[in-house]
Amino acid sequence: MTIVNREDYRSGFIALIGRPNVGKSTLVNQVVGEKVAITSPVAQTTRNRLRAIVTTASAQMVLVDTPGIHKPHHLLGERLVQSARAAIGEVDLVLLLLEGCERPGRGDAFIVNLLRQQKLPVLVALNKWDKVSEEQQHVAQQAYAELLEGTDWPVHRCSALEGHGCADLAQSMACRLPQGPQLYPAEMVSDQPERVLMGELIREQVLLHTREEVPHSVAVTIDRVEEIPPQGKGQVRTAILATVLVERKSQKGILIGKGGTMLKTIGQGARLQIQTLIDGSVYLELFVKVVPDWRSKPQRLNELGYGQDR
Ligand code: GDP
Ligand code: MG
Repeated sequence: MTIVNREDYRSGFIALIGRPNVGKSTLVNQVVGEKVAITSPVAQTTRNRLRAIVTTASAQMVLVDTPGIHKPHHLLGERLVQSARAAIGEVDLVLLLLEGCERPGRGDAFIVNLLRQQKLPVLVALNKWDKVSEEQQHVAQQAYAELLEGTDWPVHRCSALEGHGCADLAQSMACRLPQGPQLYPAEMVSDQPERVLMGELIREQVLLHTREEVPHSVAVTIDRVEEIPPQGKGQVRTAILATVLVERKSQKGILIGKGGTMLKTIGQGARLQIQTLIDGSVYLELFVKVVPDWRSKPQRLNELGYGQDR
């Protein structure tokens, strides 16, 4: 990539802030053009503060995908909210995502007030605009105009899922960054090690295939990654051993399913996703382990990477 004019180059960190499920991780993937963050219809899917990197000829944006801001019910939840709030303190720009297809709620007002107290520039995206019917568009814009009254934050409408409006939004973000050099190599799209992404892709399959109390009780550790040399004319395969942690025996039963069918479905889905990630053939073996109450145990949270400093 040729950088046109070094003095005009812009770079910086952008925090994506918004309620759980508003589409922050979907937007990150859309803007990056690759799947770097897992998404699901289950609230509180994102646990790590992931940095995704978008490099163009005129700017480099480092998108900080945060766990949504919400009222925490356990220690994990508390750490997730802490992590989102901390992100606001460390960036050059905030992208506030709001759910265009729903009326603003108390959660949104809470976040808007939090941001009003900062001096940072803020951009607003009314996401899920694909779900707003033409008759509803005016009403929705009016409601959000009231919520944002007194601010000078530019408002975009977009669909992170389908991509409409995302290129404009990205451009608008880029030109609000301070002038500065590239911070990461141009080909780098995420700051998370491959192992973390692998674990996340497995967790995403669990979220997609299980219901109710299982999803939030799940964590994944990658125990071993090994390359298996090709036999004969075959290609190199990567063997991955991973453990899915749950909190109760009943959840282990659900995850394994009748005759192991559920675990097989989860494993197959994850294997395909990981193959795309590493661009190679994968052999995946999953174990399920019960660790009672891991979400409330500080030491377990630290081991799993949900430390206080993230
Ligand atoms: P996050 O919790 O804010 O990171 O939200 P996710 O990115 O995980 O998305 C939550 C759910 O909303 C997923 O099922 C996404 O497919 C869906 N979603 C995200 N953006 C859009 C959008 O623009 N339109 C529609 N229809 N759905 C979306
Ligand atoms: Mg997310």
